[in-house]
Amino acid sequence: MSGEGYEVNLYINGSIVKPSTGNYQSRYDPGDDSRLIGRIADGSKDVGAALDAARDAFDRNVGQWVTDYRLRAKVLMRVAEIIRERAEDLARLESLFAGKTIRTSRLGDIPRTIDMFEYYAGIADKVLGYSQILRTGDISAIVRQPIGVLAAITPWNFPLLILSRQIAPALAVGCTVVAKPASYTPATALELARIFEQAGAPPGVLNVVTGRGEDIGAQLLKSEKVDVVNFTGETSTGKWIMQMSAGTLKRVVLELGGKNPNIVFGDADLEAAANGVTYGAFANNGESCAAGSRLLVHKSVRDKFVKMVAERVSKIRVGYQLRDDSDLGPLVSQAQMEKVLEYVGAAESEGLKIVVGGGRLQGGEYAKGNYVQPTLIDDTPPSSKLFREEIFGPILTVTEFEDDDEAVELANKTVYGLAAGVWSTDTARALRAAERIKAGCVWINTYYTLPVEHPWGGFKESGIGRNNTVLAIEHYLEWKGLYLDAQPGKMKPYYRLVLGG
Ligand code: NDP
Repeated sequence: MSGEGYEVNLYINGSIVKPSTGNYQSRYDPGDDSRLIGRIADGSKDVGAALDAARDAFDRNVGQWVTDYRLRAKVLMRVAEIIRERAEDLARLESLFAGKTIRTSRLGDIPRTIDMFEYYAGIADKVLGYSQILRTGDISAIVRQPIGVLAAITPWNFPLLILSRQIAPALAVGCTVVAKPASYTPATALELARIFEQAGAPPGVLNVVTGRGEDIGAQLLKSEKVDVVNFTGETSTGKWIMQMSAGTLKRVVLELGGKNPNIVFGDADLEAAANGVTYGAFANNGESCAAGSRLLVHKSVRDKFVKMVAERVSKIRVGYQLRDDSDLGPLVSQAQMEKVLEYVGAAESEGLKIVVGGGRLQGGEYAKGNYVQPTLIDDTPPSSKLFREEIFGPILTVTEFEDDDEAVELANKTVYGLAAGVWSTDTARALRAAERIKAGCVWINTYYTLPVEHPWGGFKESGIGRNNTVLAIEHYLEWKGLYLDAQPGKMKPYYRLVLGG
């Protein structure tokens, strides 16, 4: 990175290219807005070239990518190895742009990204279909083939991890990709493209185009060259993506927002629950679709438990994202900080009780960054804006419940259905609640444990489809029926319907 910041260019057909527009957008450090950290290419005139490259690589089976599963497995495994070798520099780049702490990148995003590629490398040669010998002796073979070109559109909160989560299964089964990373955090996407090149991926297999979401997105979604879209981001954007994709009937995978409840029953292990609830709400600055942002707690333990969580929240250290001792970093942008502070303002005007935090951190090391105090808000009724809307920042609300039915009812009182947590020492009770919660993932006596082996995706307005696990490859495969006649040449009785005789 020079004094002018890291230059994020485009990666098309196996080469890094400068944007045809000649334009770049500046990116400033979320922890120090006087410092230019990046110049991001405006690739709005280069989407066509990226689509051509991906389409061509797929249709011409460039480098045998589509048919040679052994090659794909080797490339994905090598990608994982290179990321492991470069873990520290990728972690620093990720944290610098996203504002997430360096420990989050080191212990979370980067190892999980490595897992992603290793896991799907292992699947590349295990894409099986079905077959049946029919009573006529003919054979019906039901084979699975890659669908074609994936448009991967990703958000800023887990830039490398979410991109990898989208593309690893698609590439494993033989698709090709045009990726459009979020404008705040595209640097590691470009690095990933370089890593693929180093790992031996044929040109055109992975292309990266940066630039304004609306513009690049519209071009990708209108194009007949894209077969499937995987989008992670806001629910409102997801709805638009679905409408736009209807024009060419693209397959759509959507990972959207969440307003996730963490239910603490009266019989829970309160120490474990307090740790899990605090972690689940504030990990990654609370800028996470999985954030357990609504604490629902039984009235019998409520006062004690809120005190336990408050103690933990007040000890969270907020600081510059690259410092080893920061527990939370700055929010990704000034706009995101203002949005979060508006919710604090709404809590005040609704008369809610702010137990810890409740404002911007200013002065000293905080003077030039988007730093917000980790905030705990008590007694938040279901009618409150803070109970209903995704905040995407370090705010946890508390709501009390009287019995198990009310806990589940409150948990489900949201348009979202991404994740939930249930804390109880009574396994049967926890399972009964988990079964009734409308969410794609329910953690029991833990929160926010999300290895690649665990599926991720939502009910209701949290999305469509599942990423992670073997389920993810379904989005990138087409079924094809191959019919083999056991007695070729023999006249079929039904031909006579037309041929007479
Ligand atoms: P956005 O929806 O604003 O953006 C996501 C991506 O879409 C970015 O690359 C963005 O580009 C692009 N984009 C924006 N507008 C359009 C458009 N009209 N057409 C096509 N692409 C577009 O989300 P954020 O980046 O703000 O991410 C935060 C949201 O993501 C939260 O709501 C969160 O819940 C959700 N999320 C969900 C996850 C899940 O697994 N369910 C995981 C992580 C986040 P640009 O940056 O250039 O605007």
